[in-house]
Amino acid sequence: MQEDRINLVRPQMGTSRALTVRRYGKVGSGPKAYFQAALHADELPGVITLHHLEALLKEADAKSEITGEIVVVPFANPIGFTQYVDMKPLGRFEMRSGQNFNRHYPDLSPALIEAVASKLTQDADQNVAIIRAELRRLIAKSRKDSAPLTDLVDLRLTLAELAIDADYVMDLHCDWEAPMHLYISDHNWPDAADLSAQIGSECSLIAEISGDNPFDETFSRPWVELRRVYRDKFPIPMATLATTIELRGDRDVYDDYAIKDADNLFKFLQRRGLIKGDPGALPDAKCDATPLSGVDRVMAPHGGMVVFHVEAGEKVEAGQELGYVLDCETGQKTTFSSRTNGVLYSRIGIRLIVPGGYLCSVAGAEPLPGREGQLLLSK
Ligand SMILES: [Zn+2]
Repeated sequence: MQEDRINLVRPQMGTSRALTVRRYGKVGSGPKAYFQAALHADELPGVITLHHLEALLKEADAKSEITGEIVVVPFANPIGFTQYVDMKPLGRFEMRSGQNFNRHYPDLSPALIEAVASKLTQDADQNVAIIRAELRRLIAKSRKDSAPLTDLVDLRLTLAELAIDADYVMDLHCDWEAPMHLYISDHNWPDAADLSAQIGSECSLIAEISGDNPFDETFSRPWVELRRVYRDKFPIPMATLATTIELRGDRDVYDDYAIKDADNLFKFLQRRGLIKGDPGALPDAKCDATPLSGVDRVMAPHGGMVVFHVEAGEKVEAGQELGYVLDCETGQKTTFSSRTNGVLYSRIGIRLIVPGGYLCSVAGAEPLPGREGQLLLSK
């Protein structure tokens, strides 16, 4: 294992930040996997999971069982880690810009399409190597184009540089109150069905483009766009599997979950040939993929307090009463429901709600009217 600290651009004179990066296996020895946790800095289930995964990786490394390259950024957001207000960590948005830490990553697709136009061949493996070389060049170029660099942009580009040529990109997040679920490109499905089954995902959401460039799509989207443009002329595999894994809710920081989750990720790496050993039989899948455009986001009809009648992870019917919002001053009490049958896979973690505030999400099997363009929640 090799540990590096990468200094980030200073946010201001008199202060500094750095990213810790640990590497297992050997560069270029086989497939590359990239893991990061806490890009939303108040989401800690991924941090404890990587803590346990790294214990397994160290053991495998000592026995020379790592046949690929595995890069781990155990906590990906030193900016967000320092944002505390009123005794609460605020890690989803950068406080200075108001920007979501998991949006606004570079879309390298347009430049990539041009850059590889005269280089692609009839050999799929050769094309993957050519495309990855261009992706490395283009991400370095985006850094030059971003001057003067802020610490937030530097963080985004540094993380993207570490993952840009990986075969597997695993961005570990969590929801507020939720069962295990994941987001992934529909071009990675059903290839990623083994990952979904191995980690016990109860809701696997697929979309081609989900909007506002989240981290994982920096790595999947270039392949999607290239395949669309060149599919009749050149063989281009969907060479990168990039996913956002939501490790339940933000308070689900427990060893029993994290040890099992780490073990499952380790087995996935074994199954995909990055680590020697038998991962055993694949567990039965708990869900099939459903479209992100089939998610009904249920919002509060007015302000007040929310009282839920269903737990996160339950299957619900369209029109079923999921709970109510109560304005105790006026006595207004309004029940709410979903437009679709499906699994209620996400529930807000607070109970004091503003008008139009987010309440919960239900994942249905069919796209819903009006669900296009921006498919993720908020900025
Ligand atoms: Zn998150």
